[in-house]
Amino acid sequence: MKKEKTTYFRHMQGVVVKSTGNQYLVRLDDQSEIICRTKGNLRLKDYEATNPITVGDRVEVEINDFEGELHWISSILPRKNYIIRKSVKLSKQVQIIAANIDRAFVVATPVLPKTSLGFIDRFLATAEAYRIPAGIIWNKSDVFNANVFDFLSDVNKIYEAVNYETHIVSAITGDGLDKLAAALKGKINLFSGHSGVGKSSLINKLIPDLQIKTGGLSSGHMKGTHTTTFAEMHTLPFGGFIIDTPGIREFGTIEFAKTEVSHYFPEIFNFSKNCKFSNCIHTNEVSCAVKDAVGDGAIAMSRYESYLSILGGQDIFR
Ligand code: GDP
Ligand code: ZN
Repeated sequence: MKKEKTTYFRHMQGVVVKSTGNQYLVRLDDQSEIICRTKGNLRLKDYEATNPITVGDRVEVEINDFEGELHWISSILPRKNYIIRKSVKLSKQVQIIAANIDRAFVVATPVLPKTSLGFIDRFLATAEAYRIPAGIIWNKSDVFNANVFDFLSDVNKIYEAVNYETHIVSAITGDGLDKLAAALKGKINLFSGHSGVGKSSLINKLIPDLQIKTGGLSSGHMKGTHTTTFAEMHTLPFGGFIIDTPGIREFGTIEFAKTEVSHYFPEIFNFSKNCKFSNCIHTNEVSCAVKDAVGDGAIAMSRYESYLSILGGQDIFR
């Protein structure tokens, strides 16, 4: 009997777009979505995680075409990256927030409220630590004056030179959204940022029917009491996903070892190879190639200041 049934399973691949801890909404490669469960002790090796599967995971599913029968996730494909948070303070166990992120964007504003470069640099350094390519989205361009545009033009040159993608957009007028959409298309994009920068407005503008969708049938049928503690992936109408992270927690909690901080500032790391001392942390040492580069403008002062600030153990939250 059992053997006969298994012949009705169709095997497909897809991406986990929502998780409630025991059920998973999987978007299949044919764009349809199904709710799946997992069999027993399915988990990737090397992870001491409370949740074996997370949004962004590529999975193989067994689809049961019998009405009312369950679908199963049969395996997880290897992750290229992931972000975590400790499930309980001081606990060794971690919760995996999301996996396979193609780019992590910090949504920022130079005005109303101003996002500090220190905060942006800490975000970018954290993305480096997770090995996730990162970018900056400056929102609210509709209220920028010429000075603000000049400031952003200078600042963006600094970041583009270090290979961070930058965008200037307005969630209200739609300015710059075509270029942004082209960058997001077909990828898993993580959005983070302080409240008030317009992250929600931006996501709603990119996904106009989001409200309808999140209250819609497929996800509405999922049972689970922990829904809100898991990040949710939204599907972009033109292909690809946005993972909306509530607040900045996942990106603010990494503690950097002093000798490692420079590894997460690519341009500082580059110059550090020419420092006299191999354990140079680029503060008071003699013959420091990094300080020389800051002196002649090859490394931006603001980036060096952010580096020093993280090195000094200062948390940059604004
Ligand atoms: P979130 O907290 O980052 O999700 O920000 P919201 O989307 O809730 O927006 C915060 C405030 O900024 C609201 O008053 C929005 O109307 C406003 N806002 C969002 N995007 C823009 C924009 O592009 N231009 C302007 N002028 N205001 C914006
Ligand atoms: Zn040095």
